[in-house]
Amino acid sequence: MEFYVAWIQDHLLAVVAVVLTMILIYHYLIERDSGVKLSKRYRNSIFEAQSKVFLNATQYLISGNRDLAIKEFLNAVDINRETIDTYFALGGLFRSNGEIEKAISIHRSLIARENISESVRLRSLKELAVDFDKGGFIDKAIETYKDVLKINRDQYEVIQSLCRIYEDIEDWDQAYHYRIMLSKVGHENQAETISHILVQKAKIYFGKGDFGRCREDLEDAFRFAPSVSAKILRLRLLLISGDLEESKNLLSELLKEHPMYASFIFESMSKLFKGEDKIQEDYQARYKMLRDFFLEIDDQDLLSSPSVLLSKVRLLKEGNRSHSAYELLKNWMDTNKNPSEVMKVEFVKLLIELDQREEALSQTKELLNNLHQSLTKHYCSNCGFNSDDIFWRCPQCHEWETIQFRWKV
Ligand SMILES: [Zn+2]
Repeated sequence: MEFYVAWIQDHLLAVVAVVLTMILIYHYLIERDSGVKLSKRYRNSIFEAQSKVFLNATQYLISGNRDLAIKEFLNAVDINRETIDTYFALGGLFRSNGEIEKAISIHRSLIARENISESVRLRSLKELAVDFDKGGFIDKAIETYKDVLKINRDQYEVIQSLCRIYEDIEDWDQAYHYRIMLSKVGHENQAETISHILVQKAKIYFGKGDFGRCREDLEDAFRFAPSVSAKILRLRLLLISGDLEESKNLLSELLKEHPMYASFIFESMSKLFKGEDKIQEDYQARYKMLRDFFLEIDDQDLLSSPSVLLSKVRLLKEGNRSHSAYELLKNWMDTNKNPSEVMKVEFVKLLIELDQREEALSQTKELLNNLHQSLTKHYCSNCGFNSDDIFWRCPQCHEWETIQFRWKV
């Protein structure tokens, strides 16, 4: 399957050209008997010339020569100016060849024509929007996509493009608006994504210290779906309001559901925000109590998760409790036969810190013999994108909550 996809990607233009030639032949056969305006001989000669042009273009495309292919297609446009599909093929060729301005001028000239049908005008407008989009003219792309929707609102791909753009530029109000629209037009459930978008909005309010509006958007987010990022933000709000018991319950629930997110939880919780000194102090004090609660958790199920265990080890180290960290990790290493490299590295670091030279040396030796590299903390399970930042929406494939995590060596 992957082979075919790759082949089609490599030969996309050639496939398009062949299909177009087929269309032309089809039209020729259909119109051959019904044509009244042109004499038969004239039509035949146009068809022959056109076939030749498309044949040449196809050959150029197969041999990878896009420039010559485009020239051949231009010839075809000269031969029969009424062949709308040729224009679209040409526009698509220019666009995929990176000649966005030529693509734009072709699609604009189509839109400006008086004698075209509404459907062709709509298609041209959509193509023009894609040109702007691919060319990085974001404002114009947005405007043109919206023009398309003014003519016909039932355009899944167009709405999807607007969603992508607004999520890219982090305009969460608009992203929310178009995601709702998408959920009405398409059949896919958008609740998870809408929840994420609302959490992003809420996070911004949290960062500004506007906890009231943060709470409102967060409650909306929960109404759509209880995503992990929503729960983490709720945890922060509980610390702001001082519901320590509630925050302990929520933390336990989160860890049980998603032990592998343990490190994110604490990383997200310690993010800075604006607010009065008193609020900040209270937050930090309550956060410390919550961390202590986490360090006391002695649930063997939970502690079998490497992420939970390493989060504990790191928090203990931060609190200058390296001996406790050592005990915990040593116990884990003894009971688990195949600890990951990250565990081993963490262990060696601890040994060095505690000045246990001999053991550090033998552990390091063993580690170096089997070391694989890991360079970033996070990666996308969908496309493999790597990053040190936390991304709830993958910047590469735009999927939500595909983030996976590995400890950086
Ligand atoms: Zn991805």
